[in-house]
Formats: sequence, structure tokens, C-alpha cells
Amino acid sequence: MLSQRLCYLGILLAAASLAPAQEPDFSKVEIRTTRLAEGLYVLQGAGGNMTASVGADGVLLVDSEYAALADKIRAALRSVGGGGPAGGSSSSRDQALRYVINTHYHFDHTGANAAFARDGAVVIAQDNVRARLRTGGTAGNGGSITREVPAVEAAALPQVTFDHELTVHVNGDDVRAVHYPNAHTDGDTIVFFPSTGTVAMGDIYVRYGFPFIDINSGGSVQGMIAACEDVLLHVPGEARVVPGHGEVSGVAELREYLQMLKETSAAVGGALKAGKTLAQMKQEHILGRWSERYSPPKAFVDTDAFTETLYNSLRGHVARHGSRPR
Ligand SMILES: [Zn+2]
Repeated sequence: MLSQRLCYLGILLAAASLAPAQEPDFSKVEIRTTRLAEGLYVLQGAGGNMTASVGADGVLLVDSEYAALADKIRAALRSVGGGGPAGGSSSSRDQALRYVINTHYHFDHTGANAAFARDGAVVIAQDNVRARLRTGGTAGNGGSITREVPAVEAAALPQVTFDHELTVHVNGDDVRAVHYPNAHTDGDTIVFFPSTGTVAMGDIYVRYGFPFIDINSGGSVQGMIAACEDVLLHVPGEARVVPGHGEVSGVAELREYLQMLKETSAAVGGALKAGKTLAQMKQEHILGRWSERYSPPKAFVDTDAFTETLYNSLRGHVARHGSRPR
């Protein structure tokens, strides 16, 4: 199943060096809705996972996938009792999509921002997300993976931005959006739903194999590790963990993923200290046992690409938009 849950950004990025980027066939995409707890759902279509709090105060949605899927996302929200237009009748307004929080700027997580903003939703994101959406840029791992990301229309820009942290009090929960610097990008937000012990991690945690780290946009493996460690310190042992891509997991799977990040980083860090070149590291398969688990056939980030990512990250590839540490 891993190959079917591939990050579409991943597919687009992987295709970029060979041919013009191809978008998924949106007409064939179905939005799968899974109930995590009372009033809390995960929606999975063709981009990043979405997490929805649905209740008397309306809907708060984490991430917005693709513009072409906006109608299907609205229908999925209606099927669980939410998603009416903010300007509708008083009864539908109660269930309106009121807030969208972007976990980061990548287009498979922000694509329907403008559509939902036109419905009346307030789009919320970390400061750097707005800056990157406004200017566009080149996403990539500092080496073989690269992709031009166009600027978005003004209507897609977050209306509310924050530096470190923001709380939305909705549906009886205190939903906390926390910035984790220089992780998957420089604008990552992890969203905590404390009342149900749920956390939505964006692409800091993915389950399609070795993660894509957007070093060109300020990401780093050190930041990925720090973010995962912090989440594990702050969520209960029975927490539900929503990855950016792939199936919802518990804490144990996140802990193993963190172990993978640490051990592979240590391997590349050690090889760097020993003066090895990237070519030598690839040849010696220094990621060891983790390659079997995290580099499935046709992996977007295969063993060589992840070795290169770690190499670039640990050598201190300099991002164009640095962000202040918390
Ligand atoms: Zn991403």
C-alpha cells in the first residue's frame, strides 16, 4: 500500500526532472473520511491528509489539498455534518467551514485555500507560509529533487498568520497550532487537538517511506528530529497521530520514524566527519537496515535521494528564508 499512498508532491517532484509535471486525475479521486473521535475526522483524497473538527461552532480544517477537489471536500464535510457556506442560512452557518490551518506552503496542502476563503473561511498559517505562497520558489532537497512552485493568487493567501503559536477555541477544544522551525520547510505547523489526544503533523511525519525534506525552503533533518521529539513529549501515550501522507498511526510508529531519522542522520554525520564523499556514502549503503523499510519500490525519496538529503542538510545548506528559533 505504501506506493499507493505516495505524496503527490512527491510524484510531481519526481516527474519534474524527466517531463512536465503531471497532476493527478482529480475526476477519479474520492475523499475517504475516517472518524477519529466524536466530531473529529481525517479526510484523505489526493494530496496531504486533512483533519477536520466538526461541531456546533462550525468546521476547522487542517490543510486543503487541491483546488480541483474543493467540491469533493465540501461534500465530504457535509456527509459528517459540516461544511455549509459561511454566508448561508443560520442553520447552515452553524456548520460552516470557518477555519483552515495550513501545515506548510506546499500546493498539495494549500490548493483549495482560495476556494474555501471565498466560502468565508479564515485561512491561518505560520508567517513563512504566507511569504512562500506569495512569491513561489523552488522546492527541493538541495540536489537531485527540485520543483518550481508558482506564486498563488491573492485569495489563497492566509489572512491570519502567526510566528510561534496560535490557539483556536472551537467545538469545545483548544486547538493549538505550533510552529516547528526548519523541519519539512521553514513554515511547518503541527496542530494539536488536546480534547481528543490527536495531533496532525503535516509533512514532518509521512508514511510513504523516507521523507521529502524541502531543504530549499528552509527544511532540515535536525528540525524534523526536534519536532518529532517535542511531539512525543507532549502527547499522551494513546494519541492518534495524523501524518501528512499515509494512514493514521499511534505514538509507537512515530517513535520508530524518529529513530530512523536519528540513526540515518548519525550514519551520514559520521561519514561526513570521516571525510567521505556523497558518492562513497551511496556506494556503501550507509543507511543500512532502514533502506528496506523506508525505500519501497518506486519510492519518491529512495535511499540515494535520502542520503543526499541528509548530506545536504547536515552540511548546512543555507535556506533563503531562515526563521528564528523558538
Ligand atoms: Zn510537503
